[in-house]
Amino acid sequence: MNLDHVEALAHELMGAHGLLPQWRFAFDHAKRRAGICRHQDSTISVSRHLMALYSEELVRETLLHEIAHALVGAEHNHDAVWRRAARTIGSNGAARIPAAAPQATAPWIGRCPRGHEYSRHRRPRAGASCSRCASRYDPRFPIEWSRREVTTTH
Ligand SMILES: [Zn+2]
Ligand SMILES: [Zn+2]
Repeated sequence: MNLDHVEALAHELMGAHGLLPQWRFAFDHAKRRAGICRHQDSTISVSRHLMALYSEELVRETLLHEIAHALVGAEHNHDAVWRRAARTIGSNGAARIPAAAPQATAPWIGRCPRGHEYSRHRRPRAGASCSRCASRYDPRFPIEWSRREVTTTH
């Protein structure tokens, strides 16, 4: 979504749910976290990288998720009180962004026994060895893959 439209939607939703003018809206540079509600300085901040990739529906969900945090207070985290508030204002009330959402960083991280690192957007095939340790397949240098969580909300 165009970032000007994200900002306009944020102000519209924050106004509609009574957060203005006390709360402010900001963009940040996070790549693994879609949005955050900072109670200490009354700010709802969203990732410019992820919002640029998200559909309007996902942007709206991210904003409503954070607005619900602002409405119920930090102590509720993702508990039943927060979830009820989130659903009341039109969020799906899920604590996480769907795994199928676009991502700004590669979720698959591989490491060989000597510590060389690799990253992949798709699940890598098993049985590869480190190309920096050996130019052809070598069982002494297997790459261990793990999937990191790349899109959360707070
Ligand atoms: Zn290596
Ligand atoms: Zn949250």
